[in-house]
Amino acid sequence: MPTFKPNKGFKITPPVDVDWTPIYTSKLESGCLGKGNINGTILVSEELHEDKDRESVIEHEKVHLDQIKRGDLDYDDQAVYWKGKSYPRSKMAEGNPNLPWEKEAYKKTDDYEAL
Ligand SMILES: [Zn+2]
Repeated sequence: MPTFKPNKGFKITPPVDVDWTPIYTSKLESGCLGKGNINGTILVSEELHEDKDRESVIEHEKVHLDQIKRGDLDYDDQAVYWKGKSYPRSKMAEGNPNLPWEKEAYKKTDDYEAL
């Protein structure tokens, strides 16, 4: 029987990027450096010029894409949904590291003020 090794080979180390996640540079709302989309794409702020900054934001957003893919995270214009609980955007500080989905992302990546 082959041994299943979770995550083996999925750690992306630049410059060999075998990930197919589409990444676009875009103008984002002020203070927002990156955005993981429901459709599996990542937006990176055009204000980030250093490759290492872009990499950090991309790693952070990839955690959110993983959360979306496994069904823990979802969102629309009104709210963010985490494990079935809704967090209305009107009452939420977007990107706050204490939000459960951000906690996981910040734990796994560098500190960046990204969404
Ligand atoms: Zn985030």
